[in-house]
Amino acid sequence: MAYQPLARKYRPEQFSDLIGQEAVSQALVNAIRLGREPCGIIFSGVRGIGKTSSARVFAKALNCDNGPNPEPCNHCYSCKAIAGTYHEDVIEIDGASNNGVSEIRALQETLGYTPQRSRFKIYIIDEVHMLSNSAFNALLKTLEEPPQSVVFILATTELHKIPKTVISRCQTFYLKKVSASAIQKRLHDILVKENLSFEEDALAIIAQEASGSVRDALTLLDQAIALGGGSVKQESLKLLLTSLSSSFFIQFLDALLNKRAADCLKLIAELNQEGVEFDTVVSDLASYLRHTMILKNLGLNISDDSLAKLTNEDKVHLYELANKIPDHRLHDLFHQLMACAKEMDGSWLDRFVFENYCLEWCLKQENLVQQKPIPHTLSTPQQVPLARPSAPTNVPVEAAQKAPQQVHERKFPATWEEFIARTKQQSPFQGRKLEELSSLEYSEKKILVAVDPKSFFGGEILKVDAQKRFAQLFLDLFEFKGVFEVRDKTLLAASPVPESLLDEKARKDAELRKKMEQDIHQHPTTQAVLSAFGGRIEKTEHH
Ligand SMILES: [Zn+2]
Repeated sequence: MAYQPLARKYRPEQFSDLIGQEAVSQALVNAIRLGREPCGIIFSGVRGIGKTSSARVFAKALNCDNGPNPEPCNHCYSCKAIAGTYHEDVIEIDGASNNGVSEIRALQETLGYTPQRSRFKIYIIDEVHMLSNSAFNALLKTLEEPPQSVVFILATTELHKIPKTVISRCQTFYLKKVSASAIQKRLHDILVKENLSFEEDALAIIAQEASGSVRDALTLLDQAIALGGGSVKQESLKLLLTSLSSSFFIQFLDALLNKRAADCLKLIAELNQEGVEFDTVVSDLASYLRHTMILKNLGLNISDDSLAKLTNEDKVHLYELANKIPDHRLHDLFHQLMACAKEMDGSWLDRFVFENYCLEWCLKQENLVQQKPIPHTLSTPQQVPLARPSAPTNVPVEAAQKAPQQVHERKFPATWEEFIARTKQQSPFQGRKLEELSSLEYSEKKILVAVDPKSFFGGEILKVDAQKRFAQLFLDLFEFKGVFEVRDKTLLAASPVPESLLDEKARKDAELRKKMEQDIHQHPTTQAVLSAFGGRIEKTEHH
């Protein structure tokens, strides 16, 4: 048998196959069960989410030789004929190519005849919004006085282009974009049925890439199978998708948020070399920024379908990045990217539009946000330097917040403990990681630490990339220009390694418990009870 594309082979045959469209399926099943089939139906939704499939399933359910059936049998002549688009009483019309009034008139002329073999005469009009006004008027007349046993099924990606008069004569169903997790599950099930091997991560990427369309996902899956020689691997997807790596976007966001104009231009030049389309880059950047804001505000453990594409490492990077940037700047950049996307038109000028927006963004002063005047009586020493008598009350908020710390706090901390404590103030998440490190050497010239690779962040911290990020953070926070070096604790055979802050906390906690137990045991009351009853202590519980 010739090879059949998966999108065709696994086209939905019945309502239960329409994944992600449960509400619509249920309403249609009920209509058939109750014998209240509407004579006009509109399926609305973006491309590739099952409008035509829904129309055919509904047509089969109505005209099934064993029906009307809430679920078509898919075995009888009618079901097969509808699936193969050769049923005498089911006519599929492409609104885009048959959009004139004469076509609709010709269609109307066929209406008077009773169906040849089934219960209903069914007209499926795809892309119905393409019909001309006069064609719509002709259609409207038919919908106003529908002949017996005629059903119109209209499908459209642009509901707003259909006259209200037509919409009001029909029952409209809104098909939703299918969630990435539902698509992924569908791909998984299909591959199991096809007995093909696959990497689950690859399926996650395909599902995300399909942005809501099962058909697009299956087409991509077909290509991935072909490239992977019969199995679905992440490796082959890299060849297939022009999409850039997540680390690229994180790098770009970092440059933008920290207003490094030269880095932005360099990255744009790289993009130009790759031949990618700048409008998609900008919308992808905006979506990464959106992820960043979500992670910052809702935390790393937030489960959100749209974050599924990100690895844990990506999430941590974005989270750390966001925590160094005030919220208002994140929002400003988001609006800037939106404005940039609007100005792009897919021409070669897009590169320059993008560059210009990046430059303007990086070079502009922080937004001047109206700040409430500070009442003199409440002035704290921290605010004094800003409260100049004739100074305008418009003070850049960020500068106001950071200034005192920059003046006093960039001094290199005297001890490793202070170093961690002050890092935690600025970057709680990074500071938490430092608590797992044992300090071997600590000075302005060199910070040498050891970490257990099996600790929570140990594996990550041992990577060179992570260490570079730490070095950058220390430079930002304390102007630390020395060497930051991390060693694997388990490989340090020699002298005992000093404990990390976390070890210390754990030890102190244990000591405290022990001390409390002893205190309880030695307490006069406890001793009195023991001697009176001649017992011994078996267990001490704390509350
Ligand atoms: Zn049937």
